[in-house]
Amino acid sequence: MADFSFVEQDLAYVLLSEDDIKAKVRELGEAISRDYQGKRPMVVGILKGSLVFMADLIRSVTIPLSIDYVAISSYGRSTDSSGVVRIIKDLDEPIEGRHVLVVEDIVDTGLTLRYLLDNLQSRGPASLKVCTLLDKPSRRKVDIVPDYNGFEIPDEFVVGYGLDYAENYRNMPFIGVLRRSVYEQE
Ligand code: 5GP
Repeated sequence: MADFSFVEQDLAYVLLSEDDIKAKVRELGEAISRDYQGKRPMVVGILKGSLVFMADLIRSVTIPLSIDYVAISSYGRSTDSSGVVRIIKDLDEPIEGRHVLVVEDIVDTGLTLRYLLDNLQSRGPASLKVCTLLDKPSRRKVDIVPDYNGFEIPDEFVVGYGLDYAENYRNMPFIGVLRRSVYEQE
């Protein structure tokens, strides 16, 4: 087992263990494989947060698929959504007539996803759905319900498994709640 003790002092507690995540990703992969049978979906990851989740998820999907990525401007170092969203890297391929499944790390206010979904919808996909690993429904500002959702979590700032604070912690294989002192001192 890799030693991630260097992050311990920054975490309030571990919210989801590596095993919790593995089991859930397998479950999501099975559901997606069932629902998209014969459709060869285009799985679209949102960089950088969904990178780790996406890599594991597609390996638990047992039907043909293609992948692509978009990169969206994030909060910078703040922990609150600005609502200002910008596409930094667009899809490589057109999605007209394709079954598109957007993979997100976490849906918080929903502002990021709302913007992206409206943008993608205007390109004429055959279908457009969302798979998120984490969901904080209590924080929602716009009406978005993910089609596939790994875990509903409380209103805490989490890091690990692709999720960062100031570009740190993405490489942790589990998800933890960041101590307030780490971001409140700045
Ligand atoms: P939304 O637009 O739904 O408020 O924000 C979605 C994005 O905000 C996520 O893709 C993620 O980058 C960031 N985000 C929201 N909540 C958290 C959190 O608890 N931890 C981290 N690391 N990022 C978050």
